[in-house]
Amino acid sequence: MTDSCVAKRLKVNGIVQGVGFRPFVFQLAEKYNLKGEVANTSSGVSIHIEGPPDNVAAFERDLAEKNPPLAFIVDINSKTESPRNHTGFAIVKSKARAKMTTLISPDVSVCDDCLGEMLAPTDRRYHYPFINCTNCGPRYTIIDDIPYDRPKTSMRHFKMCPRCQAEYDDPVNRRFHAQPNACADCGPHVELYDSQKKEISRHAQAIEAAARLLKAGNILAIKGLGGYHLAADAANTAAVKQLRRRKLREEKPFAIMSHDLKHIRQYARVGPEEEKLLTAIQRPIVLLEKKKPNAISEEVAPRNRYFGVMLPYTPLHYLLLAQGFDALVMTSGNLSEEPIAIDNDDAFNRLGDIADYFLIHNRDIYLRSDDSIVRHAAGAKRFLRRSRGFVPIPVFLKDKVPPILACGAELKNTICVTKEDKAFLSQHIGDLENLPTYEFLKLTVGHLERILDIDPEIIAYDMHPDYLSTRYALELAADHKIQVQHHHAHTVSCMAEHKLEGRVIGLSFDGTGYGTDGAVWGGEILVASEHDFERAGHLAYVPMPGSVAAIKEPWRMAVSYLQDAYGLNFQGLNLPALTAMDTDNLTVISEMITKRINSPLTSSLGRLFDGVAAICGIRQRVNFEGQAAMELEMAAVEDAGALYEYAWDKDGAYRVLPAPIIRAVVDDAAAGRPVGEISARFHRTLIQLFTDLCVVIAKEQELNRVVLSGGVFQNSILLAGLTRALEDRGLDVFSHQQVPTNDGGIALGQAVVAAAQAKR
Ligand code: ZN
Ligand code: ZN
Ligand code: FE
Repeated sequence: MTDSCVAKRLKVNGIVQGVGFRPFVFQLAEKYNLKGEVANTSSGVSIHIEGPPDNVAAFERDLAEKNPPLAFIVDINSKTESPRNHTGFAIVKSKARAKMTTLISPDVSVCDDCLGEMLAPTDRRYHYPFINCTNCGPRYTIIDDIPYDRPKTSMRHFKMCPRCQAEYDDPVNRRFHAQPNACADCGPHVELYDSQKKEISRHAQAIEAAARLLKAGNILAIKGLGGYHLAADAANTAAVKQLRRRKLREEKPFAIMSHDLKHIRQYARVGPEEEKLLTAIQRPIVLLEKKKPNAISEEVAPRNRYFGVMLPYTPLHYLLLAQGFDALVMTSGNLSEEPIAIDNDDAFNRLGDIADYFLIHNRDIYLRSDDSIVRHAAGAKRFLRRSRGFVPIPVFLKDKVPPILACGAELKNTICVTKEDKAFLSQHIGDLENLPTYEFLKLTVGHLERILDIDPEIIAYDMHPDYLSTRYALELAADHKIQVQHHHAHTVSCMAEHKLEGRVIGLSFDGTGYGTDGAVWGGEILVASEHDFERAGHLAYVPMPGSVAAIKEPWRMAVSYLQDAYGLNFQGLNLPALTAMDTDNLTVISEMITKRINSPLTSSLGRLFDGVAAICGIRQRVNFEGQAAMELEMAAVEDAGALYEYAWDKDGAYRVLPAPIIRAVVDDAAAGRPVGEISARFHRTLIQLFTDLCVVIAKEQELNRVVLSGGVFQNSILLAGLTRALEDRGLDVFSHQQVPTNDGGIALGQAVVAAAQAKR
């Protein structure tokens, strides 16, 4: 060793085990001709390197910037040490594996190296649909317990052949400690069955036969990474229609999958940002604007401006799509809103009436994980559903918190558990409206607590007394239970993402959330901290005639807003949407409103969107929550002329009055103005209105940060417009980028509120 030899100890925290990190470090050391060693520790990876200062610096730089695809570095702690005259670089055996606090990787798509091998006729894994390595493949969905080793995964049933074992044992092999490592000789395989459970074929022939059946218009149940998909040829209208009928899914869009970007570009617009989202290793479903005309059946996403599109992510997907499809419908393998099937027997039972054939395999899925859904909006990636590929990567909190379980809300439920400064949001659980989904909630809680080694001390839950998540929370045995108001949780979940402290203005806009006064909130302007909130403003209350029926039938909300704006005279309005309504029905609903029969009060902005959509004649009934609001957004044109008048009054809190806006919308609709223009004016009016009100509240309360959260912010016109308008007025604006803005992200906020309140 010369004088110019320095040595360093680098401790790397994050997802760095079981992801090829040590071989990566080994190769990096070789590249810069450095000596030393690397080992796994209880909290990550520890590296000792020594050599010329320039090379050590280059090593450190590469370590931070060029880590393997599945690695997720939280921080690197670097300390100078004295050189120890190492003669080479070694991967040393891990010390005792007690108390592992290391993080588990999510499931990700097959990597290019594995794909290359799979398509090389001379490779021993040629066309093998379960090829994987340390950089790719299943993780979270096949783990049953920790530490993450093969015997704790569903691969325990497959004994590696000598060749696979040799790869697994070789520190410089890219399959070193790849727990799901397998080949055709020793690993899982595929089989094709008919719906009577009669085997038709297996291995490569099964995939080819499946493709032929799809082309002939059949519906297939296909076992994937996080559960079953139901597949059909997306260009075949009869097949897609059949799938809708059997799955009891009338209009909700189906996701589709195409072999590559070239195929996708034939039917959808793919900008550079969308391309990044599509090709990311998590392979989410990405919302893409439709191109017209296109070869995809209109039945795939009826009356929608977008397709939800994903690229293949398992080797099996690649083999199947290579058989020549524009796109395959790949929708969750479930009936209506139940959890997706993961177990083979369960799939035959539950999907037997939907699928004509079953393409299954014998690698068990321990925890179902639906496809994630993202879009690019207002300059960033936005989650509509955060699930496969992203879970269980934690959200890093600004402080350490006690172990908490937050049970989420009801629709799009996810749960959240915390460990030190990390909050783990679960995969998508679903709408807690049926027993199977409730069972899935319990299963997920148990599973996450086990694999993350968490024993919650505090339970956080929504204020709504009838949510199944609330009942679940109340049944749990824990001393400390904390109720969190829905819109407070929304706001704090966004604050948590951005590590915000202190008081902020929270625009918490959604469809439904239980208020502290028992009303249905949803158009809330809060002044909030993590501990508590005050309601600084909200939409003025109107009755929801029929309660939940008013969510399914937006025309009821239209009647409520019309009566609010015109009194009982509304029935005489010359409004096309009104004359199309049944007069008897109108009278009944009107009476319910007047007498307040089964008509809870609501300040929901989601319902205002529904009501305006119905007044414009977009639709009177919806097939899924938010459909009318979504269609109103999609109808909006770019340029729409003047704003509508708007007004608020003050009764303790500011109350935004819907009546002036409703009257303006009615005037436009009665005058025959196109829906697209009305929609655009409505959006612009809301943006201006809430910006003005935020400025007033910001001045009064001496605040300068505005946090946007709640399902209404899935509306990208509102999200982008409000962000820009508020920033133009000198306010700092924060919105969701790590978790969904809808109720799929609310458990994070519940956990952080509970932590703050427990601390007090
Ligand atoms: Zn790979
Ligand atoms: Zn093998
Ligand atoms: Fe909500």
